[in-house]
Amino acid sequence: MTLTIQAERWRTHLERTFASADVVPVAKGNGYGFGLPRLAGEAERLGATTLAVGTADEVAQVRDAFSGDVVVLTPWRAHDTQAVALATDPRVVTTVSREVDLAALVAAEGTPRVLLELRTSMRRHGVEADEARSAVRRLDVGDALGGRPGVVFEGWTIHLPLLTSGRLEEARRLGRLAVGLRRGPLWMSHLSPAEATTLGEELGVPVRLRLGTSLWLGDPAALRTTATVIDVHPVAKGDRIGYRQRRVARAGWVLVLAGGTAHGVGLEAPSAAASLRSRAVAAATGGLEAVGRALSPYTVDGRKRWFLEPPHMQSSMVLLPGDATPPSVGDSVPVELRLTTADVDAVVEV
Ligand SMILES: *Cc1c(COP(=O)(O)O)cnc(C)c1O
Repeated sequence: MTLTIQAERWRTHLERTFASADVVPVAKGNGYGFGLPRLAGEAERLGATTLAVGTADEVAQVRDAFSGDVVVLTPWRAHDTQAVALATDPRVVTTVSREVDLAALVAAEGTPRVLLELRTSMRRHGVEADEARSAVRRLDVGDALGGRPGVVFEGWTIHLPLLTSGRLEEARRLGRLAVGLRRGPLWMSHLSPAEATTLGEELGVPVRLRLGTSLWLGDPAALRTTATVIDVHPVAKGDRIGYRQRRVARAGWVLVLAGGTAHGVGLEAPSAAASLRSRAVAAATGGLEAVGRALSPYTVDGRKRWFLEPPHMQSSMVLLPGDATPPSVGDSVPVELRLTTADVDAVVEV
């Protein structure tokens, strides 16, 4: 499984997007299909001063290739030993989403750099207005020795839902609340660059826009995912095949293609209503889904082809009907992958 990047086109998109606002690139999880170290290198190339990672554990994967500050997006917790260890690292900025955690950081040795997270309509993490008010008072409390402040306040963080309608209003409302309690930069996500700029002008504070998907994956035409053909065999209608020994519905070829569950093949984000409906339609019409078959993400001889059975760990078995032209072992075929859930074997720049 290979991800091929048209490097010049991709970097043009990265540079344009990076320049569209005060952008903080986000590199977390599977690194949006590219891997974290590669994204750290790209953030460095872009001249980013700050990179955001998802968890404290991920800091180690970006800190060599990226020389600036690293924000950890998952809120700090006392049970997270990595987060505790990194909170006093001068290059790390810690997200704090509860007053009790802020109190612990203030009391600890060292001077953590902190972002205070406000709860949004996501209702994932963050302090609400009352807790924010009392948390702010702790920002000026002295550290364990009573001398310096216990933390350095780096701003507010606000993580909005993906909706487009109403998000700028919510950003305004929360931004005003935050800045009214303590002036500081607003670190936002899921605003457009134009909205981020507008908000900054209205509130008179810097607005830093965290971007992951629209940065790294925002120009899909610059990216291509392909799978190597590992094996090709003729099969007759009714032959039994695979782990489950199902009968083949038509004569043709069995294709064994690179890519299995370990690569994220066959993973789809749940979309309950649509899939329930399509399954009901399939059952009513006797369609192939009704008997447990699924269209694969592989395109062979111009069309998506059916899985013969669920993907294996590192390869998949697909049926190519007899009227199509089979590929040769060693060929590459296009495969549709969600890069936020994929783990490819190789990333190649052309
Ligand atoms: C993942 C994440 C982002 C980036 O999200 P995208 O939709 O990939 O741009 C920004 N902020 C926070 C807090 C996140 O967890």
